[in-house]
Amino acid sequence: MSESESKTPNHAPFLGVNALTVDVEDYFQVSAFERHIERDQWDAFPRRVERNVERLLELFQNRGAHATFFTLGWVAERHPELIRRIVAGGHELASHGYGHLRAAEQPREEFARDVAHSKAILEDIGGVAIRGYRAPSFSIDERNPWAFDVLVETGYRYSSSVYPVRHDHYGMPGAPRFPYRPNSKIIEVPVTTLQVFGNNLPAGGGGYFRLLPYPVSRFAIRRVNRIDARPAIFYMHPWEIDPDQPRVPAIALRARFRHYINLRTTESKLRRLLDDFRWDRLDRTFALPLS
Ligand SMILES: [Zn+2]
Repeated sequence: MSESESKTPNHAPFLGVNALTVDVEDYFQVSAFERHIERDQWDAFPRRVERNVERLLELFQNRGAHATFFTLGWVAERHPELIRRIVAGGHELASHGYGHLRAAEQPREEFARDVAHSKAILEDIGGVAIRGYRAPSFSIDERNPWAFDVLVETGYRYSSSVYPVRHDHYGMPGAPRFPYRPNSKIIEVPVTTLQVFGNNLPAGGGGYFRLLPYPVSRFAIRRVNRIDARPAIFYMHPWEIDPDQPRVPAIALRARFRHYINLRTTESKLRRLLDDFRWDRLDRTFALPLS
């Protein structure tokens, strides 16, 4: 056991259940498109998030799965009924910030306003306490360790904002792979990685789930469950099961490839994933001490 893992606050043993998480944002809000679409243009795009989340809720309900929905304040303001349906379905409502600004690119005061504002909107609409936060593009890393203090000051109890991998847009490869306390009042639950020859490979969903054949994801989650004896965290976006989403023009080739690859097959992969594992909300899967 490494030093970082020995500081794990609650080494929840693996009880056969993994954590399912959804970052609730629309196809035009993704970080990959941020240079092409200004935030003040967002309202000009046809929104698809409501129908896509409804589809996810149906898929989850059919399999008795519950999930944590890290939701943008911007989306909640425009779809309050959807937020209430998420809560009514027994899912955990959590925050993804207001307008998908990366945590590491906001000054401390601005970040504090962002996370407080989004929390207030979600609590107001959802009628539940918001305890969890996920930074857009996993943007808590070496640049902004103070972000955890801000989350405590604004009333959050846990974060799932660190991806301990090397990636061109995000990642903190040296971070612990499993829940840890960045300070005494908050728990960080990093997205799942697979350790291979000392390197952490992404194994928590997102673009890799779409890109790679499904058995790769199944192998990785099983391995974390069996070898590390820990629950895995899987994350996805509603637009990833929506092959008919409007195409955003003039996007660079690389971003276009990453966004549109295998949209048509993701829902069938997701069904297999839901069938092959048992899934629950992040707060329950990791038995987080949140009170
Ligand atoms: Zn996001």
